[in-house]
Amino acid sequence: MPGTYDAIIIGGGHNGLVTACYLARAKWKVLVLERRYIVGGACVTEETFPGYKVSTAAYVNSLFRPEIIRDLRLADYGFEAVERNPASFTPFLDGRYLMLGADKASDIENIAKFSKKDAAAYPKYEAMLERVASVVEPTLTQVPPNLMHPSLGQLFEAGKMGRALQKLGPAMGEAIEVLTGAARPILDRWFESEELKGTLATDAIIGAFAAPSMPGTAYVLFHHVMGETNGKRGVWSYVRGGMGGLTQALAKAAKDLGVEIKTEAEVVKILTANCAVTGVALADGTEYRAKKVASGVDMHHTFERFLDPETLPPAFRDAVARIGYESAARSCTHRLRKRRRQDQRRARRASELHRMPGYDRRPATSRHGASRPRPRLHRTRLRRCEVRHALTRPGRRMHHTVVGRHHRRTGR
Ligand SMILES: Cc1cc2nc3c(=O)[nH]c(=O)nc-3n(C[C@H](O)[C@H](O)[C@H](O)COP(=O)(O)OP(=O)(O)OC[C@H]3O[C@@H](n4cnc5c(N)ncnc54)[C@H](O)[C@@H]3O)c2cc1C
Repeated sequence: MPGTYDAIIIGGGHNGLVTACYLARAKWKVLVLERRYIVGGACVTEETFPGYKVSTAAYVNSLFRPEIIRDLRLADYGFEAVERNPASFTPFLDGRYLMLGADKASDIENIAKFSKKDAAAYPKYEAMLERVASVVEPTLTQVPPNLMHPSLGQLFEAGKMGRALQKLGPAMGEAIEVLTGAARPILDRWFESEELKGTLATDAIIGAFAAPSMPGTAYVLFHHVMGETNGKRGVWSYVRGGMGGLTQALAKAAKDLGVEIKTEAEVVKILTANCAVTGVALADGTEYRAKKVASGVDMHHTFERFLDPETLPPAFRDAVARIGYESAARSCTHRLRKRRRQDQRRARRASELHRMPGYDRRPATSRHGASRPRPRLHRTRLRRCEVRHALTRPGRRMHHTVVGRHHRRTGR
């Protein structure tokens, strides 16, 4: 038997690596098993074609918790967040443009070009989102309650959240709408300019298979303003060296804490005996033993493929079968040969370029029965900080484009 551990983590994505680090800090003997040749999962930078290193999936950060960066001393291992400023650039056919995210005064000035009323409302809208964030943010690091059998401690924590919501007073209804409703009615109430609403709505649908008028999109919008960079709420950042800079720093921290990381180690089975986990088996037949196994791989793989169905109660299996995480993003990265003309000269300063067919195109039905709205382009320009450190041929320009709502994936 090759080894016995206190815990085995399946998958070396950022969540698997963070779990490994915290367990190792608690003096557990931990093994991370990663199927690919490199750790990082969807938060990775790789040389996808010769001479170019690219963040192949995730490309910007703000949601990674600052507590983790501090606890694991990730800056000491090379992690650095570089703020995106300005954050976005939306050009329009009539030659006008909306540039957001440089600073508050410039945001207001830019919005005023389209609507003075919206420019006056914008700071109040941001303050409303901050109020909701102040209630929701503390829950991000809480253990989710077991709704079927909540412990006393969990009931107490849930009560604390209820009290925090109560403190919002008349704003509580607005908070509930943000957490459960659609983005469009909220944006329509606050603003009149299609240009501004369209730009803001990008955050409501990114990665989601939905139009801004569909329930749930308000939370996606809100989620994107809840993160922070270097203490500034709502500010997104690049990671120096590409997104892989984060997971490589995590891997270094993990190793220093004594975690063993094995790549090209594909788990095919979670081993059990007498209703308890005993370890995992790899595709090549190797087995590792541990009393605890944590999986950083999706629910369907973990509970429907790695575990024998008989080991799980039928109600739990049914609950897992109901989990869906369909998304609608396709990302591609390409090299730019020529300098761009007209509005793109201005866009060079911005990090993100939005082009949209309309603010809220309702999906049409495809032959698969799935909604199929026109794609929305969401393009990120890699800034010099990434280029200098991520690309082996400095000076070459790269664009990373995420085409929203383009195709449907069930995740299975
Ligand atoms: C195109 C795209 C763009 C995105 N952009 C952003 C963004 O800009 N900002 C942002 O914050 N988020 C973004 N996300 C979301 C974010 O990247 C993911 O939510 C996050 O990386 C998930 O991390 P994870 O550790 O939970 O899982 P993953 O990153 O999926 O890690 C799971 C790991 O498990 C490994 N694995 C799978 N099966 C096995 C097995 N059988 N045995 C061993 N190992 C296995 C995988 O190889 C992988 O390394 C994006 C996602 C996509 C797809």
